Amino acid sequence: MKIKIISIEFELIESSPGMWNRGAMGRSHYGDCKILLDENLPENVKMQTLMHEIVHMIYQMNDLPHMDEATISGLSNPLFDFLRQNPELVKRIAGI
Ligand SMILES: [Zn+2]
Repeated sequence: MKIKIISIEFELIESSPGMWNRGAMGRSHYGDCKILLDENLPENVKMQTLMHEIVHMIYQMNDLPHMDEATISGLSNPLFDFLRQNPELVKRIAGI
């Protein structure tokens, strides 16, 4: 699946965690435009992990100062919850 982050196309890959996992539920690589998600996660956790990786990419793509994992999660988890709690608004924002 392809997704766009700030107009850059990323390949979203759901796969069984192998060497990329190292205890994480997802990984993102700006250089090769890929986001990896552990395919074994429940769907809601998988999407929460995707939001986490998207926030990582937003930071990297804008040369923002390095943020630790807790700060990334502190932004991505409320954003994920906001999107889940307001689907009609999300449609309006997306223009659909
Ligand atoms: Zn992270």
